[in-house]
Amino acid sequence: MHTVVSFSDLRPTRFSFTGTVGLVPTMGYLHEGHVSLIRRAREECDHVVVSIFVNPTQFGPREDLAKYPRDLERDSRLIEPYTDLLWTPTAEIMYPPGYQTWVEVDAITHPLEGAMRPGHFKGVTTVVAKLFNAVQPHKAYFGQKDAQQAAVIRQMVRDLNLPIEIVVCPIVREPDGLAMSSRNVYLDPEQRKAATVLARSLSEAKEAYENGERNANQLRQVMKDILATEPLAEPQYVSCADYDTLEELTTVEGKALLSMAVYFGKTRLIDNFVLE
Ligand code: AMP
Repeated sequence: MHTVVSFSDLRPTRFSFTGTVGLVPTMGYLHEGHVSLIRRAREECDHVVVSIFVNPTQFGPREDLAKYPRDLERDSRLIEPYTDLLWTPTAEIMYPPGYQTWVEVDAITHPLEGAMRPGHFKGVTTVVAKLFNAVQPHKAYFGQKDAQQAAVIRQMVRDLNLPIEIVVCPIVREPDGLAMSSRNVYLDPEQRKAATVLARSLSEAKEAYENGERNANQLRQVMKDILATEPLAEPQYVSCADYDTLEELTTVEGKALLSMAVYFGKTRLIDNFVLE
C-alpha cells in the first residue's frame, strides 16, 4: 500500500494503475463499516484507493471538528490488506489560502440532515467532487448509513455527468444493532447501552409497515414512542420520507426512507431503514 499526502504525489501512483479503480472516501477512525466498503471495492475493482480526510467544510461552527477521533496508524494497518493507495491530504492542501470554489446540490440537500446542519452538504459535495477529480475512479463506494449523503452524491454525479458509478453498501451494525460509527466512541457506557434504541425504533416501524401500516404519521409515531422509552435519547428529527426526493410523506406508496437523528448528551447519532 502506497500512502500519499499531496496532489503531486497522488497523481503518478494513481495513473500508474491500469484497469479499474475504486475509491472509498472516509474521514478515518475506521471501523468494520468502512472496511465493508473497502472489501467491496477490492472485489469489484482492479485497484482500490482510500482517502482519509476530516473535511473541515462539512462541519458546522458548533460541531465536533476539533475533537473528531483520529488514528492514522491504526487505520493504515486495518486497510492495508485491501488497499493499493491511501491518500491523506491536509486541510491546507484541499483548501489553500484564497480557495473559493464550491459545488452545491439543490433540493435534495434541504430536508433532514441538510435542515439540521446548514452548509454540511455544500462541504460534502465540494470535497467529494475534488476527490473524484483527483482520483478519477471508475466506481466510488458509500454507506447507506449516511442515506442522504449517498442520495446527494448520486444526484451530483448525475447532474455533472461524471463517469463514475456510485455503489451504496448496507449498514454494518454492532451485534446489539447499533449502527457502527466513528462517533460511537464518544458515548459513555450508559449512553452506549441506550443508543440501541435507534435500531429498535426502526425495526418496530418496519414491523408496523409489514403489518400493513401505510400512514406516515403513524410510522413516525411508532419510532417516537420507542425513542421516548429511553430517557437518555433526545430525538432531533424522526422522518418517513420519499426515498427519491426525501420529502416527508403522508402515505407510504412506493419506496420510503425511515430516518432519525438522536442526541445522547453531546453525541449526535443517525440511523435509517429503507421500506420497499
Ligand atoms: P465517514 O468516515 O463517517 O465519513 O464514513 C465514510 C463512509 O463510510 C461513508 O460512505 C459512510 O456512509 C460509510 N459508513 C460509515 N459507517 C458505516 C456503517 N456502519 N455501515 C456502512 N457504511 C458506513
